[in-house]
Amino acid sequence: MFACLIAGATTSVAYAAGEHTDHSGWNTLSGTLGYYDRSLPDGNYVLTDDLIFTESNNYYPSASTAENIVWCLNGHTLVNGSTGGINPTILNSTNGRVITICDCTGKGRVDSLATYGVSFSNVSLYNIYATNQSNVVTTIDGNTKIYSGKVFASYGDDMIIGGNTYIETGVELTVEDNGHLIINGGTVRCDIEVTGGTCDISGGTFYGAINVSGGTCNITGGTFSSPINVSDGTCNITGGTIKTSQYYNDDPGTPQGAVVVNGGVCNIGGTAQITENRVDYGGAVCVNGGTCTISGNNITKNNATYCRVRCGRHLHY
Ligand SMILES: [Zn+2]
Repeated sequence: MFACLIAGATTSVAYAAGEHTDHSGWNTLSGTLGYYDRSLPDGNYVLTDDLIFTESNNYYPSASTAENIVWCLNGHTLVNGSTGGINPTILNSTNGRVITICDCTGKGRVDSLATYGVSFSNVSLYNIYATNQSNVVTTIDGNTKIYSGKVFASYGDDMIIGGNTYIETGVELTVEDNGHLIINGGTVRCDIEVTGGTCDISGGTFYGAINVSGGTCNITGGTFSSPINVSDGTCNITGGTIKTSQYYNDDPGTPQGAVVVNGGVCNIGGTAQITENRVDYGGAVCVNGGTCTISGNNITKNNATYCRVRCGRHLHY
């Protein structure tokens, strides 16, 4: 049985610290939450059946206190039953309280809801719109699986992704404004868009591209099998391994690379390894614009056999 973790707790923990083994004394939830049910009394909740949100409106999982709150889905689903065209929204307050939606069984789902500052552990998310909130750390971990939707780190406090989180191809994962996204583990199959704020990646397996068009992306660890593209902002790559295979180029006028710098600033150094790349229409590191500084012995064993295009100032080793 997987324990529900209350991660990122920064305030006093009123209930089971970090995990729970049963739901004794918890409030129960099932059926529908209508307009007059949008502000729930304080406390932990466990679902006894699916829970349907009928209003295209904000829901408040706790009336007032700063005590951390856990919702255990207990194998059930949070359902969007609204007809208003706007997803029902679970809104955390800005009082520092951590709200965690988790599941002991690992079978719980959240379907087509929006969440602000809500943490997830060991649940599956479909068509989610999840973002952070001011003054509360949002954590997604504990084998949580995100199959579709949007995850944004925007203005507000940190959003942390780790703990075997799985994020499927096609999910929109974005860092913008003054957001701070921290990824320290998990499997990410979608692209990551950094348009502002800061993205710190220290671990995980990444199959999608990392596209930096603003803000700062700091990569200190992780394994990457799609390119890291920098068009504006700053990307510092001081750890991790980048190994791609690019045999084709759908856009022959645009050189390819494991790291492609078209603008902005890219600094490569430390223990970063850009290695064993096969890039037939470019180079391991392809610099078409901006500034790229390589300060270490980071580029090894790459193969650009055909290199049919001319990279402006490309480096391939
Ligand atoms: Zn539970």
